[in-house]
Amino acid sequence: MNADLQVYNSLTRQKEVFKPLNHPRVGMYVCGPTVYNDVHLGNLRTFTSFDLIYRWLKELGYSVRYVRNITDVGHLENDADEGEDKIGKKARLEQLEPMEIVQRYTNGFHEVMRIFGNFPPSIEPTATGHIVEQIEMVKEIMSKGLAYEANGSVYFDVREFSKTQAYGELSGRQIDELMSGSRDLDGQSEKRDSLDFALWKKASPEHIMRWPSPWGEGFPGWHLECSVMSSKYLGMPFDIHGGGMDLKFPHHECEIAQNVAATGCSRPVQYWMHGNMLTLNGKKMSKSDGNFLLPGDLITGNHPLLSRGYSPQAIRFFFMQAHYGSTLDMSEEALQAAEKGYQRLSQAYTTLKGMPAEGNENPGVEAWAERCQKAMNDDFNSPILVAQLFEAAKWIQSAASGQLKLSPTALQTLKHEFERFFIRVLGLNEQQEGIGANRLEQVMELILEIRREARIKKDWGTSDLIRDRLGKAGIVVNDGKDTSSWQFEL
Ligand code: AMP
Ligand code: ZN
Repeated sequence: MNADLQVYNSLTRQKEVFKPLNHPRVGMYVCGPTVYNDVHLGNLRTFTSFDLIYRWLKELGYSVRYVRNITDVGHLENDADEGEDKIGKKARLEQLEPMEIVQRYTNGFHEVMRIFGNFPPSIEPTATGHIVEQIEMVKEIMSKGLAYEANGSVYFDVREFSKTQAYGELSGRQIDELMSGSRDLDGQSEKRDSLDFALWKKASPEHIMRWPSPWGEGFPGWHLECSVMSSKYLGMPFDIHGGGMDLKFPHHECEIAQNVAATGCSRPVQYWMHGNMLTLNGKKMSKSDGNFLLPGDLITGNHPLLSRGYSPQAIRFFFMQAHYGSTLDMSEEALQAAEKGYQRLSQAYTTLKGMPAEGNENPGVEAWAERCQKAMNDDFNSPILVAQLFEAAKWIQSAASGQLKLSPTALQTLKHEFERFFIRVLGLNEQQEGIGANRLEQVMELILEIRREARIKKDWGTSDLIRDRLGKAGIVVNDGKDTSSWQFEL
């Protein structure tokens, strides 16, 4: 097992040697999506970053329990303690059951995860499936004198908690500053202090999602579910907790406070890891600001910012070219560069697989494999790994043109390690985009060409027949002004 893995811990703000609590087992919890609309490309980036981390931990031989939740209740608008429940609101607008909304977007989320080559987690618990446990945790925190009831809601008492424990350590906020900077309560609030946050909220009469509790009918606060589900499935303390950078405060800070308050464990999570933001036009990609792209838009190319579609592998490769802890700006130029890079490596991999050993040269493949390993062990540094793969692609090219005559051992190591890092670690799955997918693309190109000819001749019968039959096969054709593109139904 590898003792060389270094992980950047957001809590201590430094790289640390990774030592799991129960070697060789690793527990990892990642905040999942709030399933009230489609995940956007920024969400996808964060989940893909943790997929890379999961893959590398497994590659190192750890037995990983990866828990990623589904938030299906309690996440209120503006991430605050007031406002409508995001899922309840969508259900009202669409005149559907909240659980229909939840099911629809959970299905969509799973489909996107699959198409982009992300492994499913070991456990995917839902907030609504853990109401009983959440009520128990609220009771536990109240019994410690660290939460209070007010008018059917229960709030965490931050001021009381901070008398004995640190609050704000993860996000680097000083409690005194937070207290002085916080809004004065307007006299109407039930909270004793504006820093306090809801553990349980009383449901107003029009609120659809509600459960009985010792404090009347209500629903859990957003932060509570993650405290409950992580400790239930991974124990307390556990190894890794992940999520996007924007969740550090208040969500993760509140999670820590809840777990410390309920269990007395002073450091519930050993390593906090945060994925950085995907930006668009230099600003955080976000649904509420209208500054976003959907994964499906990128595949079809149906978006004002795009001139055509891109394969899921090219998009995944675009993510992998940046370190998960750095921001990444999305532009069509950057995507095109990523696509080229991906194709070069993919081509190199195909060439490599069919390559015979023809000599006794070794350009240093063992040292190269070590450099790949070192890159991943250095806080999952995928851009350095990608650079190493390009190095290997040069050898493959030289070998293919007869300039380099690889020895059988060198060739075998190169094949083995290239596949390991390109396919298994980066998750650029050959199945979807390898030779089979290239053939499919060629066939689809031909079909769309025939359809284009038919449309030019105003042969609408043939054109519609092709569209309908493809539709039955789960392939959607999108007609642009001059060209058409296709995608698998999402
Ligand atoms: P949500 O469904 O809003 O709770 O978000 C799901 C995940 O996506 C969280 O881990 C967020 O931190 C993350 N996220 C949201 N916006 C972005 C973005 N622009 N770039 C990267 N990750 C994001
Ligand atoms: Zn969470």
